Amino acid sequence: MSSHTPHYMIVGGGITGLSAAFYLKKRLEAEGVPFRISVVEKSPAFGGKIHTIEKEGFVIEKGPDSFLARKRPIIDLAYDLGLEQELTGTNPKAKKTYIVRQGKLHRMPPGLVLGIPTQMTPFMKTGLISPLGKIRAALDLVLPKREITNDESLGHFLERRLGKEVLERIVEPLLAGIYAGDTFNLSLKSTFPQFRMMEQKHRSLILGMMASRKNVPEETAHLPAAIRSSVFVTFKKGLKTLVSGLVSALDSADLRTGLGVASVRQRGQQAEVTFEDGSSEIVDGVILTSPTYQAAQMLADFPAASELKKIDYISVANVIMAFDRKDIPFELDASGFLVPRNEGSTITACTLTSAKWLHTAPEGKVLLRCYIGRSGEQEWPAWSDEQLISKARHDLRSLLGLTAEPLFTEVTRLNHSMPQYPVGHLEQIARFREELSAAMPQVLVTGAGFHGVGLPDCIRQGKEVAWQLADRIVD
Ligand code: FAD
Repeated sequence: MSSHTPHYMIVGGGITGLSAAFYLKKRLEAEGVPFRISVVEKSPAFGGKIHTIEKEGFVIEKGPDSFLARKRPIIDLAYDLGLEQELTGTNPKAKKTYIVRQGKLHRMPPGLVLGIPTQMTPFMKTGLISPLGKIRAALDLVLPKREITNDESLGHFLERRLGKEVLERIVEPLLAGIYAGDTFNLSLKSTFPQFRMMEQKHRSLILGMMASRKNVPEETAHLPAAIRSSVFVTFKKGLKTLVSGLVSALDSADLRTGLGVASVRQRGQQAEVTFEDGSSEIVDGVILTSPTYQAAQMLADFPAASELKKIDYISVANVIMAFDRKDIPFELDASGFLVPRNEGSTITACTLTSAKWLHTAPEGKVLLRCYIGRSGEQEWPAWSDEQLISKARHDLRSLLGLTAEPLFTEVTRLNHSMPQYPVGHLEQIARFREELSAAMPQVLVTGAGFHGVGLPDCIRQGKEVAWQLADRIVD
């Protein structure tokens, strides 16, 4: 009888990789099969894009800061890890959001969901859109649906339904926060498939969005009562809570940091993983969860991996600044503001972090976070941290009248961090996966570059791929 304990390796210790490892372990334990799991992470720490620090009483997120509460996988994971009591919602007194138009902040009309109007009266009153722009948006109510159902760009879809003004002045800046992309280069099917389904079902995007809002109470039934009214949720001590919860739950696994994988090759019924230090290991299954351009490098011997190189990644930075409350010359009654492309600012958005999330700053202090970089605005990597700070402060001075010297600043540079799903992405990915499973059945590839960039989507993808591998193991 063989004494070999099957060994499965997860490459990449971001939220996708850690979730994949967690759900693989859970499932294989439940199946009662022998196994070993390793998680291999190139950088010195687990978490990937998630990076929370604590400084002078502030809780600072250098990467993602929260997630959509209605998306179940992350709430389910919080419950699975016994962390549900750590969840917290946004400050109900800071619900407003502003958008810049001609150098001035305008309140985003109430009732917008992902930038789509669901209440016509406030939308018709907003100063953000011209009277003609409003009439054009209202045409969505009567325009026929598109009969061809192949993929199209998000920008093309939104312009077709709501017109150029709503797209450029409201929806694009809002969605830029998620993808930092050019909507005309992003796949509708891969980014907002629900928009397409609404058009198909209700003919009008506005009517579809209004109908979907009616389901909201049911969608939040899974949340702990204390946060049920919050659209966004995070952890009281930051998203690192989720990372450390996963790492603790994986304590019996072999967790390695500071070790990059150079290549993965099929070896008979197994896979050979070669590390950047030149060593290698034969394993019984591999899940790659790195950004797709890094997965393509690891699979360089596999021709279809070139499909993964078609997914472009945008670089973004953020500048976080702490202030004394007394130095802030405006009301802290909003979550922040967005800056459309043509406004001539460096920053693309600013979150009034400590107004939105009360746990992030000590009494009497304020935390702000400015975002820099989006598709078409990729000069910033050549700028120094000092230049990024100075440009962000310049914008805050002209938009908010904020002249005070920050108590401290934190700059985060996230090169090639935001995947841009091209039109036809789903088909490309399906083709790639089919060829991979035929050529390298021991290797699975997933992560933010595939089916959703949000943390809940990454967790869902990690779990799905863990179950696929487990199905192959127990079959
Ligand atoms: P990653 O976090 O990139 O993890 C992949 C890991 O693989 C990395 O740790 C990397 O070091 C490792 N790796 C790469 N190559 C190798 C190799 N050769 N060998 C071993 N390891 C390797 N989402 C939200 O839901 N809410 C938000 O508020 C939000 N804000 C965001 C703000 C910013 C600035 C950014 C960039 C993203 C944000 N997102 C947000 C998106 C979300 O954070 C990411 O999509 C998600 O964290 C990606 O997780 P991942 O595990 O797929 O990839």
